[in-house]
Amino acid sequence: MPEGDTIYRTARALQRAIGGKAVTGFATALAMLARVEDETTLVGRVVERVESRGKWLLIYFSGDLILVTHMLMSGSLHLYRTGEQWRMGRSRMRVVIRTAEWEAVAFNVSLAQFHSARSLARSSQVPKLGPDILSEEFTVAGGISKLKEYATEHPDAEIAVVLLNQRVLAGLGNVYKSEVAFAAGVNPFRAIRTITPKEMETLVEFAQRYMKANVAEGKGDGIVTYSGNQQTTHALDRKERLWVYRRQGQECRRCGAAVMMRKQGVQARSTYWCPQCQP
Ligand SMILES: [Zn+2]
Repeated sequence: MPEGDTIYRTARALQRAIGGKAVTGFATALAMLARVEDETTLVGRVVERVESRGKWLLIYFSGDLILVTHMLMSGSLHLYRTGEQWRMGRSRMRVVIRTAEWEAVAFNVSLAQFHSARSLARSSQVPKLGPDILSEEFTVAGGISKLKEYATEHPDAEIAVVLLNQRVLAGLGNVYKSEVAFAAGVNPFRAIRTITPKEMETLVEFAQRYMKANVAEGKGDGIVTYSGNQQTTHALDRKERLWVYRRQGQECRRCGAAVMMRKQGVQARSTYWCPQCQP
């Protein structure tokens, strides 16, 4: 699943390419979008802005029309110069937005809707997200207060499950969840009520630091949290760049203990941790 920083980078690239530009073509393989497009044509509208909210991508068109998509597990969004060959088959195309110079193509996206500002505000499917870790306005203090607020309502919630909850903090996915908990030395299965204010601060700081670093470096889907002695090559395996994610049974990079993995939460997402560094 694309993490929040991937969606953020996608939104930023889209904003630079098609922001402020007029739509010259639109095509979709999704019946629900096609129906709206029939009634309220997109061609001629201007792309006002592109925004990410956690793992949701929102494209605002002039005339109060918003295309809201979620990449889910397999979706991706490509940006091509007009006429450039696509790197994915036409059969996987779900949405194409054309401007004079660019084609933005969403592949394998199954969740996409048109909204007005009003319907978006009322939508129960598009969640009201917590503060976006990557937004300009995000502060560590603000993140801590969201965690504290959630802790009073759900004191027994496990911290790694909370870190994944986009209504608390928006942006972290399953990889960062484990990496951030490791960096903060916090056992991912601890109930949130046992997390000290200092630990909350460390968790939020690492969440912000890792996500910002990955956005700045623009390394595609290769999330980097561990960069010990690998400055020499970029050809490393994804798991070589991480502290614990997908490293069960291997030595902890800090203490040498065997990294563990267990399914966690109602969604049974894989959680990785070091039993010694995160007691
Ligand atoms: Zn360790």
